Amino acid sequence: MVYFVIGKRSMLLYAKTRWIGGRRMVLQTKGLCKYCGKEYTKGGMLRHLQTCKKRSAKLAEEKGKRRCRYFQVVITGKYQKDYWLIVEASENTTLKELDVFIRDIWVECCGHLSAFTIHEEQYESNPDTDAFWGIPSRNMNYRLKDVVDVGDNFLYEYDFGSTTELVLSIHSCRDGEKKNNEIVILSRNNPPKILCSNCEQNEAKWVNPEGYYEGEPFWCDECLEAENDEEGEDYELEFLLPVCNSPRMGVCGYEGSDSYPDQFEPDEQ
Ligand SMILES: [Zn+2]
Ligand SMILES: [Zn+2]
Ligand SMILES: [Zn+2]
Repeated sequence: MVYFVIGKRSMLLYAKTRWIGGRRMVLQTKGLCKYCGKEYTKGGMLRHLQTCKKRSAKLAEEKGKRRCRYFQVVITGKYQKDYWLIVEASENTTLKELDVFIRDIWVECCGHLSAFTIHEEQYESNPDTDAFWGIPSRNMNYRLKDVVDVGDNFLYEYDFGSTTELVLSIHSCRDGEKKNNEIVILSRNNPPKILCSNCEQNEAKWVNPEGYYEGEPFWCDECLEAENDEEGEDYELEFLLPVCNSPRMGVCGYEGSDSYPDQFEPDEQ
């Protein structure tokens, strides 16, 4: 069963729930470990990654003399906590590279502006260089090691109209062989199964952003087809966006990622 709760902005918070002893329990989304393929919730995964034998074996192969620190970063939807990413990024990774990664996997729709807010300082994708109105804002050409450290939490915003807000936290760090600044996904929530709000049976494939207000945002292909036959035209279609594994689902023109599949594939299954 799926319950719907209207969230803060136009986005919807939903959770697979069950009743236990009269209380609604939220079933947290789970994800797979990159190294061994085991499945855990976000919290479980953070604990597991520190003891995963396959991972330790893999990291032990990093014997190169040029070393650097790698931050383990947890990225979560601020209002959609079911969506999470656990990634590893070199301390030399820039905010710009992190921004590109977040756009590619979760948020990019029409090239909106974005910003990180770290220790009350804003780092923008397109900073205002005109100092006339005060101190010009910072750009994103800062390396992680110069702006964050373990234990820091900071905000990321994409699109200052229909904003998607993410919380990033630097969970831990490790010492490793210095490589390129590629951001590596260690785990990611599996796509939540969302039921069609019409038949409440089939998995939804489409989301109607307007429908959030009417409580009927999700559609399966069958119901959509039936509806279209009745209407005699594809009127409804143009207002629908695909269901996808992102906290930006159903917002602006977001249609999912071109570069990452919704289901994260571990190295070993
Ligand atoms: Zn593992
Ligand atoms: Zn957009
Ligand atoms: Zn349906």
